[in-house]
Amino acid sequence: MKLLEGKIALVTGASRGIGKGIALKFAEHGAHVGFTYLSSVEKGLELEEELKSFGIKAKGYQSDAADFNAAEILINQVHADFGRIDVVVNNAGVTRDGLLMRMTEENFDDVIKTNLKSVFNITKALQKIMLRQRSGSIINISSVVGIRGNSGQANYAASKAGIIGFTKSVALELGSRNIRCNAVAPGFIETEMTAVLDEAMIQGWRNAIPLKRGGQVEDVANLCVFLGSDMSAYITGQTISVCGGMLT
Ligand code: NAP
Repeated sequence: MKLLEGKIALVTGASRGIGKGIALKFAEHGAHVGFTYLSSVEKGLELEEELKSFGIKAKGYQSDAADFNAAEILINQVHADFGRIDVVVNNAGVTRDGLLMRMTEENFDDVIKTNLKSVFNITKALQKIMLRQRSGSIINISSVVGIRGNSGQANYAASKAGIIGFTKSVALELGSRNIRCNAVAPGFIETEMTAVLDEAMIQGWRNAIPLKRGGQVEDVANLCVFLGSDMSAYITGQTISVCGGMLT
């Protein structure tokens, strides 16, 4: 069953990792997909072709989600190219980890700008389109770290906690117009990034998770399909963890 047949979706930060997994899963479920990346032009072009092989319309955009004006230009361009926007996944994110003692102002500002302000930028530009449509689903990728904090990630945890507060507020403001806004909080998801880490350390993380495995990008993407689809029509303002029971 295709859950997103004919819907128009935009996924930020989809050149690799979780964003790419979401874009592919959306295409598999019949959505037309716009997606962004910051600098991975080559990977963006490859993904565009891969998405089109599902028989849907796909287009990649090089756009900095942390830049307010660029976000507005992006949203207007996607709207012009696809005609409407039904589902947006604010996924673009970075880490600049370090203990507070060593964390620079730049490390803090970079993470807040890319992870949190980007969600404001995109949602702000998007809301006028969704208000006119009187429908829409906004999905913001937070993290379990935004719920419980993490040593060495004060900047990242603050950005991801901020996303949760933003999500709840937008859900309250736009609910009466049939626009939903939810946050997804992934736990430890195994991506290209984690594949280069020490296997013994990774195994230690897996053992500490009740389901005894790291999450796959598909685990996060499947929840995004549900939240983007009409199956979740009565769900808004929620933060849903995809963490194998880690946060229990
Ligand atoms: P990733 O592999 O590092 O990919 C990040 C993506 O974001 C890339 O496509 C990158 O594009 C893009 N990006 C970075 N800065 C951007 C900007 N300013 N504007 C537009 N795009 C930008 O990350 P990931 O592990 O898949 O994580 C995706 C999201 O899930 C992030 O929000 C992350 O915080 C969250 N998350 C991840 C985990 C995990 O275990 N992996 C757990 C919890 C939450 P370029 O390739 O062009 O740089």
